[in-house]
Amino acid sequence: MNASEQPPRVRLRPEIEKMQPYRQGKPAAEDAFKLSSNENPFDPIPAVLEAIAASSVNRYPDGAATALRATLAAHYGLTPDNVHIGAGSASILAQLITAAAGVGDEVVYSWRSFEAYPGLVMVAGATSVQVPNTGDHRHDLPAMAAAVTDRTRVVIVCSPNNPTGAIVTKDEFVAFMATVPQTVLVLLDEAYIEFVTDPTAVRGTELLADYPNLVVLRTFSKAYGLAGLRVGYALGAEYVLDAARASAIPLSVIEAAQRAAIVSIEHQAELLERVGHLAELRDRIWTSLGEQGWSIPRPHGNFIWLPTGEHTAWAAEVFSDNGIVVRALAPEGLRVSIGEHESVEKLLRAAEEVVVKLR
Ligand code: PMP
Repeated sequence: MNASEQPPRVRLRPEIEKMQPYRQGKPAAEDAFKLSSNENPFDPIPAVLEAIAASSVNRYPDGAATALRATLAAHYGLTPDNVHIGAGSASILAQLITAAAGVGDEVVYSWRSFEAYPGLVMVAGATSVQVPNTGDHRHDLPAMAAAVTDRTRVVIVCSPNNPTGAIVTKDEFVAFMATVPQTVLVLLDEAYIEFVTDPTAVRGTELLADYPNLVVLRTFSKAYGLAGLRVGYALGAEYVLDAARASAIPLSVIEAAQRAAIVSIEHQAELLERVGHLAELRDRIWTSLGEQGWSIPRPHGNFIWLPTGEHTAWAAEVFSDNGIVVRALAPEGLRVSIGEHESVEKLLRAAEEVVVKLR
C-alpha cells in the first residue's frame, strides 16, 4: 500500500461516529477538591473493605446477583423478581432504554438533566425529545406529558434532578402519571433520593404498587459511597426488569460490588448518618450562597447548581483557581458537589468572586 493511501474506513453508524464519549470532570490537581462528579467524600466503612477483600477474583460473579436482590427485596417489601442489579444505575438506564425504544421511537426527558441520557437514547437508535426545564430549573411535568405521543416508549423523570438539584413533588408526579399511557415506560431516576429531606418529594418506592409502568432507579454510588465499584438497582414489574436482564452485558456486576452493597444495606443507619451530615452541609452552603447574592434553587441532592449562563467557562476557572474542580455545563451553569468540610471555605470564596462579577 502506498504510504499516502488511507485504507478504507470501516462502516460505523454515522450518528455514533459523531458522538462524544461521556465526559467526566477534569482530573483534580493534587491539592484541589474534586467536586465535579457528585461523589461521596467519606472513606468506605471497614465492613465494606472486608467484603471487598473476601470477594473472589478468579471466579465469575453471580450473574443473577441473588443475595443482593434478596437483600433489597426484603428491604423494600418486594420479591427478588421485582429487583434488578446493574453495574451502576447508568447500565440499567441503558438496558431499559434499549429494551423499550428503538429506531423511530421517542424518549422524553427534561433538559437539562443527567448528561448520559442523550447518548443512551442515541445508542438505542431512538430519538430524544427534550423538554426544557422551567425558569426555576424544575421539570415541567405538564409540558413533558404534552410531549408524549404515539411514538413515545420511555419517559425519564429525574428527582432530584442532576444538575439543577430540583425535586419533583409527589403531587406533581401523581398528576403526571394519570396522563401518561400505561404502555409507556416511566423511569424515575432517584440516584440522589437519600439526600432529600423535603417531605413533599416523590419517592418512587411508595408508588410502585399504583403504577405497573413505573420503574424506580437507585444507586449505591452516591449516598452509599460505592461509585468506584459500580452498582445500582431498579425496582419494578418483573417482565420489564426481565427485558433489562436480557439486554444486559452478562456478568458485569462484580462480586465485590454485590457484597459491598449488601453490607451497605446492613450498615444503612451509619451510612445514612453521613448522608445527613452532607445534606446539612449542603443547606448551610446554600444559605451562605444566598447571602452572597446568588439566587439559586433549593438543592436536594449532594450538589448545588450555579446558573452562571454564558460566563460558565470563566466561572469554572475561578473555582479551579481556588482549588475546586466543578462540572461546567455551558452555556447554562456549573454544578458543584458537596464534599469535604475543608472544601467549603474555598467553594464560598470562589462563589463570592463569581457573583460579584455577575451582578
Ligand atoms: N442518574 C443520575 C441522575 C446520575 O447523576 C448518575 C451519576 N452521575 C447516575 C444516574 C448513574 O450513577 P451510577 O451509574 O453510578 O449508578
